[in-house]
Amino acid sequence: MSRLELTNLTKHFGTQIAVDALDLTVESGQLVSLLGPSGCGKTTTLRLVSGFAAPDGGSITVAGKQVSATGIVVPPERREMSMIFQSYALWPHLTVAENVAYGLKLRRLPRAEIESRVRVLLETMQLTPYEQRYPAELSGGQQQRVGLARALIVEPKILLLDEPLSNLDANLREEMRHEIRRLHDRFHYTTIYVTHDQSEAMTTSDLIAVMKDGKIEQVGSPHDIYERPQTEFVARFIGSTNILRGRRTGEHIADCEGLSLACESGAFAPKGDAIISIRPHRILIGAPPAGTPGPNRAIGIVERAVYLGAQRHYIIKLDSGTRLQILASSDVVAQLNDRIGLTLPAEHCRALAR
Ligand code: ATP
Repeated sequence: MSRLELTNLTKHFGTQIAVDALDLTVESGQLVSLLGPSGCGKTTTLRLVSGFAAPDGGSITVAGKQVSATGIVVPPERREMSMIFQSYALWPHLTVAENVAYGLKLRRLPRAEIESRVRVLLETMQLTPYEQRYPAELSGGQQQRVGLARALIVEPKILLLDEPLSNLDANLREEMRHEIRRLHDRFHYTTIYVTHDQSEAMTTSDLIAVMKDGKIEQVGSPHDIYERPQTEFVARFIGSTNILRGRRTGEHIADCEGLSLACESGAFAPKGDAIISIRPHRILIGAPPAGTPGPNRAIGIVERAVYLGAQRHYIIKLDSGTRLQILASSDVVAQLNDRIGLTLPAEHCRALAR
């Protein structure tokens, strides 16, 4: 069992804090992605876990044993971890089978055992037809799979993946996401997966840790992170959303420039300011409600209407000047400059703490 625990982990580069008192637990057999914008500290965190960088504070333990702390760094080759980078750097003069066997040869395992382990893994990874080819004779996706096979053959305690799909074209990237998840379901290595691509994180991960400025902003399942963001940063980073600002008028209700919004989920910050998130596909377009709009109802003018095939994208300008993005089924048709009624269902209005 290889539970990985990062406690108060800190790394500076001069005055720059790359990783800021970060806490994260990856349970044995889990795949956790670090997701965040460029420069938020994802790769540095991974390098600390792998032992290629030393922390300035905090600690890392694997299965309860400390591998990093200030002044103590177990070297990478003694951590029983495999790390895969963006460039999968296969040996060009070795065949697929020889590339995959390489890590076992270094460990001086008996030849028969090496051959049998390589055969089984190539079969599982659907690489058997290519075993005698050289890397230059493979597609990008096949090379990436060989890279993964090479990392998995040594049965690492921990698997570390740093943007492993970023060199592939869009179609292949999408296919490989599913492949990575399929392999994870088969092998269950404790894995950290670094990416800045939210769809990739959502497809592959058990848990997503959203990072910002060297810290983890929120950790949760893909569903949790999308449906129950706790902060504006997370709500905006995972999927698109509408953010409305105003003042709290009750425990679960706020006034946002004349629009009264009851929120059935989330929690406001203790002070009076309110920040509310509602996803574009959750806003309903309907006939203008009669009389003064009640809670969670609004009236606005269609400022933009774009047909997207399965959906239509609208921008609606409310009387207050606030603009809302709406994704509706393509059956819901409104014309430019139409004055339309909207419902922002309370169950989809989420109060954010900051
Ligand atoms: P990206 O998605 O662009 O790869 P990231 O989230 O992986 O970004 P890191 O590479 O971990 O971010 O960098 C975090 C911060 O630390 C950045 O501000 C970066 O400039 C800085 N940094 C990283 N490595 C070094 C280094 N060797 N020397 C100085 N600063 C560094």
